Amino acid sequence: MHIGIIGAGQLGRMMALSGIPLGLRFTMYDRSADVPGAAVAPIVTGSFDDHRKLARFARTVDVVTFDWENVPVESVRAIAKLVPVWPPPRALAVAQDRLSEKRLFRRLGIPVAPYAAVNASCDLHRAIAALGAPGILKTRRLGYDGKGQATIRRASDAGSAWDQLRGQPLLYERFVNFSREVSLIAVRDRAGSIACYPLAANVHEQGILVETRAPFRQARLQHAAERHHRRLLQALGYVGVLCVEYFVERGRLVANELAPRVHNSGHWTIEGAETSQFENHVRAIAGLPLGSACPRGHAVMVNLIGRIPARKALLGMPGVHLHDYDKSPRPERKLGHLTVVAATARQRDRVALRLLRLSGR
Ligand code: AMP
Repeated sequence: MHIGIIGAGQLGRMMALSGIPLGLRFTMYDRSADVPGAAVAPIVTGSFDDHRKLARFARTVDVVTFDWENVPVESVRAIAKLVPVWPPPRALAVAQDRLSEKRLFRRLGIPVAPYAAVNASCDLHRAIAALGAPGILKTRRLGYDGKGQATIRRASDAGSAWDQLRGQPLLYERFVNFSREVSLIAVRDRAGSIACYPLAANVHEQGILVETRAPFRQARLQHAAERHHRRLLQALGYVGVLCVEYFVERGRLVANELAPRVHNSGHWTIEGAETSQFENHVRAIAGLPLGSACPRGHAVMVNLIGRIPARKALLGMPGVHLHDYDKSPRPERKLGHLTVVAATARQRDRVALRLLRLSGR
């Protein structure tokens, strides 16, 4: 089985690294050959809207997936006419527009923060009057890692937030006073079987994921998240890994966004679960049975952002697993991550402090 991946970043690279031992072959498509995936698979270069090149790439593989959620939906729809594409293009379309995402959550009875679409400055004033402040003005499209967002602490901030983001479809969302951020990752295979990982607790700084600890054991929240996930997987006719990020507000889940792909908050599963999210994703799209999503202990994953500290210092720490994506350093860029799996949550939390210090936090 030959899998084509659109996007050859670290996620594509980790997918291939997990699928190669299963006897699967990979080819990736990206704008440049200087990408993390190049170490593990041939790269076909071309733009993401060059339908002719994409079609030529698609004809050489058995199934196509993607590691980046901003691949133009039209490109993916065109490929889906030639070869199966999982997750389905519909899921990609929903994830690319925060408004469609919120509407889908609502339609399926999944709680979200109060929101309103904003297309003109009068919409923003109306939204603040109706929903209250503080809140966040967000671009509907192409936002990631907290980019394309302006915080509105009080109504008088509306003008500067509007000036910052105007000229594109926007969304105003009431600020959620959360106690934690968590995410659920689950995978659905072609026959409809589902495997859910335990919830993970995430910490973001300036919108960028800094660390994840899992399992986050809260049986009631786990049940609720799994119920929501099943509805989404069913509604979207989904195959592959899906991640949903939530806020926990007054003990209940409020959905923030979904990612129709393997996700940074699931990197801990490489060492911390029976089967990693990457392996389960490739198993699902290749028509193979899913592996167990049970945790192997208590894991912490810390992102290496902007720079990778000395390898000697990192690997000198017992039990540490280093994943270096082989990317050139740039401020705020995710260059790698570290994972440690401990026997107890308390041991894990002690190690987490050292890992955070080592990573330069
Ligand atoms: P997003 O790009 O929507 O995932 O936002 C990035 C981060 O900004 C989230 O992980 C939160 O830490 C924060 N954030 C986004 N939306 C809200 C909100 N409505 N209330 C509070 N924090 C938010």
